[in-house]
Amino acid sequence: MSDYDYDLFVIGAGSGGVRASRLSASFGARVAVAEERFLGGTCVNIGCIPKKLFVYASAFQEEMAEATSGYGWSIQGAEFDWPTLIAQKNREIERLNGVYGRLLDQAGVERIEGRATVKDPHTVEVNGKRSTARHILVATGSTPFVPPEIEGGELAITSEGAFYLDSLPERIVIVGGGYIAVEFAGIFRGLGVDVVQLYRGSLFLRGFDDDIRSHLAEEMRQAGIDLRFGLNVARIEPHSRGLRAILDDGSELEADQVLAATGRRPNSLEIGLEEAGVRLDTVGAVAVDDYSQSSVPSIHAIGDVTNRMNLTPVALHEGICLANTLFNARPMKPVHEAVPAAVFSQPPAATVGLTESEAREQGRRVDVYRSTFRALKQTLTDSQSKSMMKLVVDSQSQQVLGVHMVGHEAGEIVQGFAVAVKAGLTKDQFDATIGIHPTSAEEFVTMREPVSQG
Ligand code: NDP
Repeated sequence: MSDYDYDLFVIGAGSGGVRASRLSASFGARVAVAEERFLGGTCVNIGCIPKKLFVYASAFQEEMAEATSGYGWSIQGAEFDWPTLIAQKNREIERLNGVYGRLLDQAGVERIEGRATVKDPHTVEVNGKRSTARHILVATGSTPFVPPEIEGGELAITSEGAFYLDSLPERIVIVGGGYIAVEFAGIFRGLGVDVVQLYRGSLFLRGFDDDIRSHLAEEMRQAGIDLRFGLNVARIEPHSRGLRAILDDGSELEADQVLAATGRRPNSLEIGLEEAGVRLDTVGAVAVDDYSQSSVPSIHAIGDVTNRMNLTPVALHEGICLANTLFNARPMKPVHEAVPAAVFSQPPAATVGLTESEAREQGRRVDVYRSTFRALKQTLTDSQSKSMMKLVVDSQSQQVLGVHMVGHEAGEIVQGFAVAVKAGLTKDQFDATIGIHPTSAEEFVTMREPVSQG
């Protein structure tokens, strides 16, 4: 195909990089992928997978409470051992690292261990060895970011450290109001930790539907999380019993750990991108066009390093599109609309399509359907938890623009409804669908009266 050593040199074997490598190789490209840390990237090693395993671990507490208060079980001597969970989780990750390695090998992708730097638009160097490639793909992901304005911020852990703590803290302060903060608040609370979560704004999960945000806040408070809005950490200092966090209103909190879940930054620096002429945006993300091509035509980027929509399935999708564009004579633009997402809080929240305020900002009139109810499983128990479901419907066309939920299995349920939103189905078509009884999901096809219109 060319005089280059490779048709594609991928930097980063995370979700996006591995998918793009394998698929490109299946189209006949000669591919190498360099990885300096671990196969599978953030998602497999210090993200989605271990996070979800931790969520499962912590949810048993609530299930045991429900079993005993409502279903005739008596459970004695239940104890939780953090080192056992960590060891089990590490074993599974090692297995997955092996799976990723084998997938790349079987696809005929050359694996290179080490940090790659771009030397020019067609040259990459790893461990002192230079290779040339027709195309270079930057799929280096992102790293947790601790705001420099938090004095003593180096005393805080980030999500990366939280996955490897030697012992479970008794008290933790979590800073931030995004996915990671909310998920870890639930994880630690479920494992019996005293959790204070601080968010600088007036309501966390900015960008989600407002009803989801306020309902989830209520649920988390009921679960015993001390959720405080309009507050931030100004300073962290060592203390005889752990750490002291001094908040911006002057008050103080003591904790064994402070977790900064204050966003992530693209891994775009010190890998030769700017020197090669690749344009970065103001947060350091690689600026790309609709086809994931950077300002240097032979250099492409996908996933978190582009800061478009930082979700694993989106990085996979971008990788698939790029491989098709470059090596399958089928140009494909990644689509970032109607992307479903879940926050694995406890209870979880999930969403697809437009929020009510986004729909209104687009100048649409909307019919809003909302239902708040106690799930059947909880009726026999002491639990006061309620599920909330919401549909945002275009008043004129009756197209369902958004599906939102807080409640058990929200991710599983909304994944199914995402197909309907993606297909542009109307409320009538939802209504014509028969429910599965008794489920929570059936509520989405049985909402008859809007709570507001226009
Ligand atoms: P997010 O960007 O989601 O949230 C960052 C949070 O930190 C926001 O609440 C933000 O507040 C706050 N923050 C930012 N800067 C400061 C500051 N200087 N002081 C105080 N607070 C601050 O980042 P996360 O770290 O939670 O997650 C990173 C990304 O990873 C997510 O956006 C998501 O794309 C992905 N992810 C997805 C998951 C899933 O799909 N379930 C799970 C985990 C991560 P404000 O809102 O005011 O800006």
